[in-house]
Amino acid sequence: MNLAHLLLRQARMAPERHAILNGTQLAATHGQWAQRCQHLARQFQAAGLQPGDRVALFMRNHVRYLEVLFAAWWAGLVVVPINAKLHVREAQWIIDNAQARWAFVTADITSDTGDNLTGLECIIDVDSAQANALWQLPVSPLDTPITERQPDDLAWLFYTSGTTGRPKGVMITHRNLMTMGLAYFNDVDALAPQDTIAYAAPMSHGAGIYAIPHLMAGARHLVPPSGGFDPAELFALGQQVGPLSMFAAPTIVKRLVDHAEAAGLSAQTCGRSFKTVVYGGAPMYAADIQRALRVMGPRFVQIYGQGESPMVGTALSRQHLQDTAHPRHQERLASVGVAQTPVRIRVTDAQGHELPLGEVGEVLIRGDSVMAGYWRNPEATASAIQNGWLFTGDMGCLDADGFLTLKDRSKDLIISGGSNIYPREIEEVLLHAPGVAEVAVVGAPDAEWGEVVVAFVVPQAGHAIDMAALDALCLQAIARFKRPKRYEVVSSLPKNNYGKVLKTELRQRLG
Ligand code: AMP
Repeated sequence: MNLAHLLLRQARMAPERHAILNGTQLAATHGQWAQRCQHLARQFQAAGLQPGDRVALFMRNHVRYLEVLFAAWWAGLVVVPINAKLHVREAQWIIDNAQARWAFVTADITSDTGDNLTGLECIIDVDSAQANALWQLPVSPLDTPITERQPDDLAWLFYTSGTTGRPKGVMITHRNLMTMGLAYFNDVDALAPQDTIAYAAPMSHGAGIYAIPHLMAGARHLVPPSGGFDPAELFALGQQVGPLSMFAAPTIVKRLVDHAEAAGLSAQTCGRSFKTVVYGGAPMYAADIQRALRVMGPRFVQIYGQGESPMVGTALSRQHLQDTAHPRHQERLASVGVAQTPVRIRVTDAQGHELPLGEVGEVLIRGDSVMAGYWRNPEATASAIQNGWLFTGDMGCLDADGFLTLKDRSKDLIISGGSNIYPREIEEVLLHAPGVAEVAVVGAPDAEWGEVVVAFVVPQAGHAIDMAALDALCLQAIARFKRPKRYEVVSSLPKNNYGKVLKTELRQRLG
């Protein structure tokens, strides 16, 4: 099994079909993409790179990303994606830990700090003349064999974003990614060759591996010229090339909806720019998804997964999001949906015993999307995967219909006076208050209660926060003991490169 066969299959079947777009401009047909991959694969082999060797991609979103990715797989190599927003020294740590032999970079990120990557045999700036020469090739038959790989061989060595400590290398295999790609069709969306995926989120993360289902369908891959998320650009590109699909973190969805609302776009007009927005990676509050559906129409699907089971955990489908007549619609909106087709989900206590429906415990995932383990870290692997089940570190509960509702990461749980309090529940309430843009709730150490609830609140532009009103809202909706004892009004929340709120940093601020 080798994911590169997905590309060869399309290149043989429909070589002229458009594959990679730089904005509205064609960057590669499926045939050209495969040609470049086999050419690069030959270069890797000529340089002595062996199957299983690592190649790092320290690149911002770029049209050549997918070419390097599939070229590495063609030659049986393992790709180490590195988030472009990391400092060069952080990237260096990952490169050293993975013992990568080559790196592909975009100069804008490596020249920023004056630090240079070291310990590599070859560093290729994908915009350089050297790279252009590599990419300007005469057309030749597709006759370089794809290196055979076993399903459990590594394809993608992804370093967890980790909000504390050193990142761990998550070993993702060809089987894991094949499973993820196939699950997309049943659990997320149907795809056809005329579809287009836009890479607005970093390609070094889940958004990038969504290239796989789109390649399976022979669809197009669009890299926005801005290289990232610009709502106006995406709306315009969708109008020009056809409705886009994309993966977006909830904060990005919010900005997309803000744009649509500010521009006075109808849901129908939004539909000309976007086919499907898949959201996940962080909590989406019920109030936010309701607004998104109201403004942009039924074009959202939620997924829950983690680097250790990439993009595959649960899904909350378009149909479920639309089914407002269902008696449990409100609960479903706040859930992350049901187990995706290739996996099973359980909720257990700390000893790994399955809990009755409705009780909150740790979420476990089992199936072919679950990683092979952590790179050269058997202790961490043994604690994350037990008897074939991945312990996600997320807390949640299942209902009788199979819907999973996440409460929080286990480490975000607040224990106050011996009672468990899940910050998300309070955040859901506070977000309904007028003038509140964003909220993050954490526990602060307290001599009497152990911990007390503190809410960090970001006001909407031009609004003042009325703390008494927030308190009254909490009293109406949740148990008294869960109410924040304190409110901190801030202009923004600290977030990591993927848009996740850094609760550890907020806790540190409280001493
Ligand atoms: P990462 O490994 O960086 O992708 O982070 C995975 C973590 O993000 C999960 O363990 C969850 O805590 C969180 N997460 C992912 N998807 C969702 C979702 N749909 N809703 C809430 N949290 C999510």
